[in-house]
Amino acid sequence: MKPFHNFINGAFVATGKTYDNRNPATNAVIGQVHEAGQAEVDAAVAAARAALKGEWGRMSVVARARMLHAVANEIDRRFDDFLAAELADTGKPRALAAHIDIPRGADNFRIFADIVKNVPTESFRMTTPDGGTAVSYAVRSPLGVVGVICPWNLPLLLMTWKVGPALACGNTVIVKPSEETPATATLLGEVMNAVGVPKGVYQVLHGFGPGSAGEFITRHPGVNGITFTGETRTGEAIMAAAAKGVRPVSFELGGKNAGVVFADADFDQAVAGIMRSAFENCGQVCLGTERVYVQRPIFDQFVAALKAKAEALTLGGPDMPGVGLGPLISKEHKAKVLSYYAKAKAEGATVVTGGGEPVMSGEWAGGHFVQPTLWTGLPESSAVIREEIFGPCCHIAPFDTEEQAIALANATDYGLATTIWTQNLGCAHRVAAAIEVGLCWVNSWFLRDLRTAFGGAKASGIGREGGVHSLEFYTELRNVMIKL
Ligand code: NAD
Repeated sequence: MKPFHNFINGAFVATGKTYDNRNPATNAVIGQVHEAGQAEVDAAVAAARAALKGEWGRMSVVARARMLHAVANEIDRRFDDFLAAELADTGKPRALAAHIDIPRGADNFRIFADIVKNVPTESFRMTTPDGGTAVSYAVRSPLGVVGVICPWNLPLLLMTWKVGPALACGNTVIVKPSEETPATATLLGEVMNAVGVPKGVYQVLHGFGPGSAGEFITRHPGVNGITFTGETRTGEAIMAAAAKGVRPVSFELGGKNAGVVFADADFDQAVAGIMRSAFENCGQVCLGTERVYVQRPIFDQFVAALKAKAEALTLGGPDMPGVGLGPLISKEHKAKVLSYYAKAKAEGATVVTGGGEPVMSGEWAGGHFVQPTLWTGLPESSAVIREEIFGPCCHIAPFDTEEQAIALANATDYGLATTIWTQNLGCAHRVAAAIEVGLCWVNSWFLRDLRTAFGGAKASGIGREGGVHSLEFYTELRNVMIKL
């Protein structure tokens, strides 16, 4: 049984208080995770504060960037280890993790290492009231010790999306991976030691949220800011903890994203795009589409095309031949998703396909699989249309006019992402301007340039990360005014 230890001050630390780590594709116990308590959090914060004053704090930006490139190269070198760890933790299809999760885990270090070497700063010369001269300039300093609280859906990718810029800016980090996916964060500790990242710069504490490592990190006065990806309600709890000491937060939260398909869209492209955005990673993507609005002339044809493709998906573990849909992350999450399947039926949905549990055999029999599911016919007030489900399912409804499509897409508390499918450039621009989200894709989905701003509007987040935008959170901008 593999132990997952905490990584504190450059060393792997057991605590004796453990919980099971399970493979979601089989439900087999694959490891024991050592839960961190207040003592481990205190130790990690002390080490992180010491590192800020040590070699790391004195390192030139060029040397730091070189070190982060070395981290990325070491992830590449240990690609198979990271892939195996991510597959065992999440059960997702091998090709998905091999093409997205692990490569992005390495790239997240490279992009921010390069950006910090080229950050512009401002300076002004001014005439003072007494006729003299003054010069002002701005410098960025690290925020300090950053708490990084992560979800389970893209464990390495989303964690390094925060750790990369935080370290590039000269901070130290204390990472709390999801209790469901401890493996790749732990493995990254080995990488940090291998390339010589000083002790205390990158640390990992395992555990849960309330009453455990998550809460202890966010409440600790020695933590200068918290960056978090996860559910909106968890964000509210973390924000309350961060209020003590008025510490900054950066939040990437939940979504209830709309896909808007106009009748003039490239039909096959739109079907393929909506399929991916609804079912990739078994629907466990914050940017995924759970509400689809299709213009009436193509509605029936579109629903039929999605149904055929959803029914053609092969369910199974990472190495099932032709696998298109993996398991949900846990027994609890499966129960949550199935409760929405039941609600949809109770509220009178037309179940186009799916709506229940598949019969799985062999090694996948115990896995947390659900059927890919499509519904039509629900009122917009339905819980299935209002609440984030985070499973392989979506509701499809017709619309008539552009104005109606915009109103439907915006009728949600969330504001993370939208996809628009049309060949009409004017329509694409008008809808993109009117949609209340942080991310808007036209004729595409999950197309990312890591230099661009990423984040959500409304209840989907606070702040933007990505490219130079990450510097706004991970540094303090200080202005220095000199009277000459
Ligand atoms: P979650 O909020 O349940 O947990 C996320 C992390 O927060 C875990 O590490 C958990 O242990 C920790 N946590 C829970 N309560 C805490 C507390 N009180 N204090 C401190 N830490 C606490 O989310 P999840 O189920 O792991 O992930 C799924 C959610 O994440 C979905 O809502 C999804 O939309 C969202 N998400 C958003 C983005 C984005 O970029 N906007 C990306 C991925 C996932």
